[in-house]
Amino acid sequence: MKCIVCGKSIQEGIIVNSRFICLKCEERMVNSNIDTDFYNYFIDVLKKSRINKLDTKGESINCQNRL
Ligand SMILES: [Zn+2]
Repeated sequence: MKCIVCGKSIQEGIIVNSRFICLKCEERMVNSNIDTDFYNYFIDVLKKSRINKLDTKGESINCQNRL
């Protein structure tokens, strides 16, 4: 699995909103206060992940229109 925060492929970690986060990044999240730069970065990554999902749906709608 590839960590969405640090980008490294690591086996151990957690899944948040169907996104993988490695143990080291998860540990930093847990030890972070809500208003830290790292937390804001984490939320930003999750938002980008949702946008990617919407783009995928848009593509399948276009395919249906072509048919
Ligand atoms: Zn990581």
